[in-house]
Amino acid sequence: MSNVETILPGQWLGMVGGGQLARMFCYAAQRMGYKVAILDPDHFSPAGAVADKHICAAYDDTAALQQLAELCPAITTEFENVPAQSLNRLAEHSRVTPSGEAVSVVQDRIREKQFISKAGVPVVPHCVVHSMEDLLKADAALFPGILKAARFGYDGKGQARVQTKEQALEAFANFGQVACVLESLQPLEDEISVIVARSLDGKTAIYTPSHNQHRDGILAVSTAANPCRLTPYHEQAKTAAIAIAESLNYYGVLCVEFFVLADGTLLANEIAPRPHNSGHFTIEACLSSQFEQQVRVMAGLPLGSPQDLQLSKMFNLLGDLWFDEQGHHQEPNWSALLALPGVYLHLYGKNEARKGRKMGHVTLLAPNAKQLQAKALQVAEILG
Ligand code: ADP
Ligand code: MG
Repeated sequence: MSNVETILPGQWLGMVGGGQLARMFCYAAQRMGYKVAILDPDHFSPAGAVADKHICAAYDDTAALQQLAELCPAITTEFENVPAQSLNRLAEHSRVTPSGEAVSVVQDRIREKQFISKAGVPVVPHCVVHSMEDLLKADAALFPGILKAARFGYDGKGQARVQTKEQALEAFANFGQVACVLESLQPLEDEISVIVARSLDGKTAIYTPSHNQHRDGILAVSTAANPCRLTPYHEQAKTAAIAIAESLNYYGVLCVEFFVLADGTLLANEIAPRPHNSGHFTIEACLSSQFEQQVRVMAGLPLGSPQDLQLSKMFNLLGDLWFDEQGHHQEPNWSALLALPGVYLHLYGKNEARKGRKMGHVTLLAPNAKQLQAKALQVAEILG
């Protein structure tokens, strides 16, 4: 980006979306002296309670977008399903990172996969599905597979595992015949993700990859790799994430999720155009967090250091924890958890616990792998 004006502390930064990522962005921005305005239609959004200003309106509300743009010289977003048009509209007045164009590529699994391949990074074998005929023509080698709606999926939603073509046709009908991709189901040895920040002058800062365990399609535990023990596929993932950010002409924080197969093959799964749940370890475990990088990029300031200070592991706290086996409400045992040294509790201020809802997370720090593992067992025990 040419002609980069620095936005100094004391000024306003804008955020489209008011979830937990926006809340953690507020903390980082406010610590550095910025004021934050968020746009979110929910009166009780996690970031609404923290931001300096909450514009409570729909993401495509023209008057609200104008209000945000007039207040904030720089604006970002915390989720990929924001209408790209809204970002383009904001960009007529303010500096918007990432751009509506970059977000629109990753909003759509079809464009996303085409784009990743074009950037020279391998993806899972798949085919594009616009119609029943596309499925009938699909290569038999793609089964068993996963049919994924091209748009609006998250946390495993909008996906169906299919053993056969018949099942795929049924799932496609159930999805209302919206555009999909059919991916072959891969035998995953591991899943990793990499967070990269790219500044307005094209410099990048890249974090140590993290290993991610999912339960029911939702991230459960994320462990930052040991920066002294990176394997070739960790390095490949870092190189691929930078290549993707550069070819997207991306400004801001971006996460790339990868699958690792038994023979070490690395396949890019998807891109998130924002800080990511698997990067929450960076808040305590790194010199500068992913949220601080988001602030720095928006403001046109130098990137912070992504260097690790300690080993870390993050546990997501899903709403399930607030219910006992009989389905009665219970409060997790915070006292036992917080009695452990090096434990950081984050709760997002959501008013109601629901199963599968991300209510918060816990990050553990430890100076070595043995201590981290011992502490992780204690945390797992306490959280049940
Ligand atoms: P979401 O947008 O919900 O995160 P993903 O495409 O990342 O969707 O899928 C969620 C999880 O489902 C992945 O992290 C992985 O564990 C599993 N998964 C998705 N696609 C495949 C695949 N092709 N083969 C094996 N597992 C997969
Ligand atoms: Mg995913």
